[in-house]
Amino acid sequence: MPARVLIAGAGVAALEAALALRSLAADRVDVELLGAEHHFWYRPLSVTEPFEPGVAMRYELPALAVAAGARFTPGTLLGVDAARHEATTSVGDIGYDFLLVAVGVLPSSAVAGAVTFRGPADREKLESLLDDVVAGRARRIAFAIPEGEVWPLPLYELALRTAAHVAQRRIKEVELTLATSEVAPLQVFGDAASIEVRQLLRERGVSLLCGASALSFRDGVLRLHPERELEADRVVAAPRLRGAWLEGLPQTRFGFIPIDPFARVEGCDDVYAAGDIVDFPVKQGGIAAQLADVAATSIASLVGADVQAVPFEPVLEGLLLTGDPDRSLRFEPGGVLNFSAEQQGKIAGRHLAPFLTG
Ligand SMILES: Cc1cc2nc3c(=O)[nH]c(=O)nc-3n(C[C@H](O)[C@H](O)[C@H](O)COP(=O)(O)OP(=O)(O)OC[C@H]3O[C@@H](n4cnc5c(N)ncnc54)[C@H](O)[C@@H]3O)c2cc1C
Repeated sequence: MPARVLIAGAGVAALEAALALRSLAADRVDVELLGAEHHFWYRPLSVTEPFEPGVAMRYELPALAVAAGARFTPGTLLGVDAARHEATTSVGDIGYDFLLVAVGVLPSSAVAGAVTFRGPADREKLESLLDDVVAGRARRIAFAIPEGEVWPLPLYELALRTAAHVAQRRIKEVELTLATSEVAPLQVFGDAASIEVRQLLRERGVSLLCGASALSFRDGVLRLHPERELEADRVVAAPRLRGAWLEGLPQTRFGFIPIDPFARVEGCDDVYAAGDIVDFPVKQGGIAAQLADVAATSIASLVGADVQAVPFEPVLEGLLLTGDPDRSLRFEPGGVLNFSAEQQGKIAGRHLAPFLTG
């Protein structure tokens, strides 16, 4: 009998784990994906949508799951009874041999008064902001990355793309500022990335404020911490990320799940976690996929596949879409590469990237 593997969530980490299990232990596992939505959204490309509508970002999950070697069940994970190997879900209790929790995070507004950009759902707000810029109703635009758990990359992309949008239309007197709580731009990607991005922002005329965490936007003033104010007509902010509460699982005060190096959830037999929900400071699709591979390998080794569990050793990679088809930046452990094909492999998932582009 194949082992029943329930993967809760149907996003980046869930699909990567299903694909990894198919590759490592196809005939030893029966994989079920439990997903809250009917679609898989490829959110990284949503930063391009306000500027060039029509970029495909959505996949039907039932078909995608089957192609990844799994079954799709629409539903929501509510809690776990690890001792009984049962998941409490919106569609009843589901028994499992192994559970992988990959439910992502809840993005919420961190800067009152700003437009929070969470991906596809906020495309129209960005389009309306761009209309205001083109029509001259908004001249000073700030992009804000507040403190805490956030996705920083999209805010850089939005700032750079807005700069390109304005330049292409020869609109004068637009002031763009990126205010970030980071000490250097995109600091998680390392010094080489920070230097390149700082230079790129300068070339595009985007002012940079580092160590400036946005608090609120009201009456044309963006308040920043430490004590600072910036005048702006519109502010676009990154959301703050939190984990949803799941009964029966250990979680930090912000809802993140602690795991050991093999992606096992602390204190819960046969329960694993991967993706943004994990208590790891960097929230990113590539890291989500790496955690998924670690969890899948751990599970595959336990069901008798010819593979050894490997500990999580994060490698950060990213692709910054700059709005210039000939100059996007790929951040890799070896440094920073100029890149020209904009829409491939935004998320560095070993199995997921070729699966989606193949
Ligand atoms: C605009 C934008 C641009 C980005 N750009 C990049 C980029 O260029 N590169 C990069 O690496 N990362 C990027 N990211 C971050 C990346 O999208 C996330 O880090 C990644 O999707 C996290 O994967 P995940 O599987 O943990 O969560 P998700 O991909 O969010 O998937 C979670 C899934 O779980 C489902 N779900 C939620 N709750 C439940 C529940 N209780 N039960 C069952 N299912 C549930 C959700 O519906 C969803 O399908 C970007 C994010 C945004 C918003």
